[in-house]
Amino acid sequence: MVKRLSILTLLVMFLVLSAGISAAQDPLVYTVAMTEAHTKLVSQSPYVSPTPSCNASLALDAKGPLAKFVVGVSAGHKSGSYIPRHNLYAYKITDPSAKGPKKTVLIQTGNHNTETTGSWSFQGMVDFLLSSDPRAGWLRRHGEYYVYPLVNPDGRFTARGRGNPEMLEKGILSGSGKSDHNRVWNRQGQGLSTIDALTAAMQKDTGKKVDYYFDFHDGSEIKIPFYNTVPDLMDSPFSQAMIALDVEITPHASNGDPGMGRIWGMTKEGLNSKFACTPESAPKHPGVDVNMCVSWGRYYGIALYNTLINELDAFVYSPAITEEHTQIVARNPYVTPTPSCKAALALNPKGPLAKFVVGVSAGHKSDPYIPRHNLYAYKITDPSVRGAKKTVLIQTGNHNDEPTGSWAFQGMVDFLLSSDPKAVWLRRHIEFYIYPLVNPDGRYTRKGRGNPEMLEKGILPEGGSCDHNRVWDRQGEGLSTIDALVIAMQKDTGKKVDLFFDYHCCGGYFYTVPALMDCPYCRAMIELDVGIPPKASDGHHGMGRIWSMTEDGLNAKYAFTPELNGDTVIHCLNVGRNYAIGIYKTLNAPVRKKEPALITTH
Ligand SMILES: [Zn+2]
Ligand SMILES: [Zn+2]
Repeated sequence: MVKRLSILTLLVMFLVLSAGISAAQDPLVYTVAMTEAHTKLVSQSPYVSPTPSCNASLALDAKGPLAKFVVGVSAGHKSGSYIPRHNLYAYKITDPSAKGPKKTVLIQTGNHNTETTGSWSFQGMVDFLLSSDPRAGWLRRHGEYYVYPLVNPDGRFTARGRGNPEMLEKGILSGSGKSDHNRVWNRQGQGLSTIDALTAAMQKDTGKKVDYYFDFHDGSEIKIPFYNTVPDLMDSPFSQAMIALDVEITPHASNGDPGMGRIWGMTKEGLNSKFACTPESAPKHPGVDVNMCVSWGRYYGIALYNTLINELDAFVYSPAITEEHTQIVARNPYVTPTPSCKAALALNPKGPLAKFVVGVSAGHKSDPYIPRHNLYAYKITDPSVRGAKKTVLIQTGNHNDEPTGSWAFQGMVDFLLSSDPKAVWLRRHIEFYIYPLVNPDGRYTRKGRGNPEMLEKGILPEGGSCDHNRVWDRQGEGLSTIDALVIAMQKDTGKKVDLFFDYHCCGGYFYTVPALMDCPYCRAMIELDVGIPPKASDGHHGMGRIWSMTEDGLNAKYAFTPELNGDTVIHCLNVGRNYAIGIYKTLNAPVRKKEPALITTH
């Protein structure tokens, strides 16, 4: 831990120092020396190791502190403008303690000599992968990242043009006769020092089986960042994930030149990459600076996380994922513990989320073994806005095999914390009380609808089925989750809830009682026309949604059970977002004539 913190501190210092040193000339400069300095820093991380091709090239007898990360040496240039020979570096990022199949991701930069904002974005992606962000931890457990931090160092040394003198002298040029290092990746074996060494290294390191390939560039006139990819990949999961992130970066279709890294990478002779793109950073973006370029790279890491978790864990949403997501949102300035969290401090909870604990589940000693789980709660609101606010309660995780509901829940929470103007408005006018996993012992088993504690204590609905969403009216009978959560929800909301949501699977609608089918929220959702209409059901008296509307429950005025279908995580996240937009449409609607205020303030 100490070691990791010091590396993070050094990374920050490096960022500040390198930005400061260079400010006198071009604040966005990224030299060969800066690549070496950054590689030195990351090489101290326990998640960074040499690649197989580094070990193979030890015969080169490379010198310096980065000797074990060398995969080749550039030609340099003797006469005319002098260029020293440069080491070509490679390293691997992964969590070595996580075994099992991992995705293969290749990241490179530095084809073109003046494209320094591309190098800053490259650094942003690498720093994200090595960060303490829980998503980065997940990416390190589920991926191997082969990193080539500067593929044309001789060119970068000159800080001009797109090739290098060796290419001109050996006549290894683009189809139109230009010296361009990103038009010759298919020219392996012709004697160009960088291409020969790097293509051999990349093929050896990845076994020619690459899942995702990124080659960071920029363009001198670009105002908005984007990435080029082939037309067939415009609708790929990664592109969908990037669009769903809702940042400026969008895919752009381009067939490219056969000698481009991204095109060569997708060929059989290259790396058989399933996905390849060239991020293009934007040196002419209004307000561009190092931090902005770094954040663009970070977005590639986050979009990759959203893509891979979709590929690998689409229909899993474990208690560990709930904890990871809660840790991410806990850093947000609009997120605070609820009053009941403070009351639960007597439980002496442990871990990074201790202050968000409202109770602890029973767990189960054996057959099956289930660890005890913390029960979490948090509040989302804009604390700078005082005065009367509406109260919205959001929960999920009653049922054990309903991950789509949890993903939609996450989509709603992520939207509420976003910079979208509708989210800003919602935070100013509403206090959201969030209970991200109400039956963690059941979710841990991934099967059924209840948990062993319910069976052992006989806390079952009439008929005897073990169902955690039929016992919300059984507070005080000794069920660990219901007892703790009901008390927490009542204390947090003062038993005055305006809107109640309990996310489930499956369907393509949300349940509400017949009397509410024409309520403002249902009308807003029908008007939104996003394929999630209301559906009437009186339900069961022990359901969260029915209990919440009783005086003994939360006096909720409106209560809904979203029932999610979903083929992809991204689809579920978007559905959750639409449920939040529905709240905005309901509460921020223009006042209609002869209609009372939609919901009275208390
Ligand atoms: Zn370029
Ligand atoms: Zn359910």
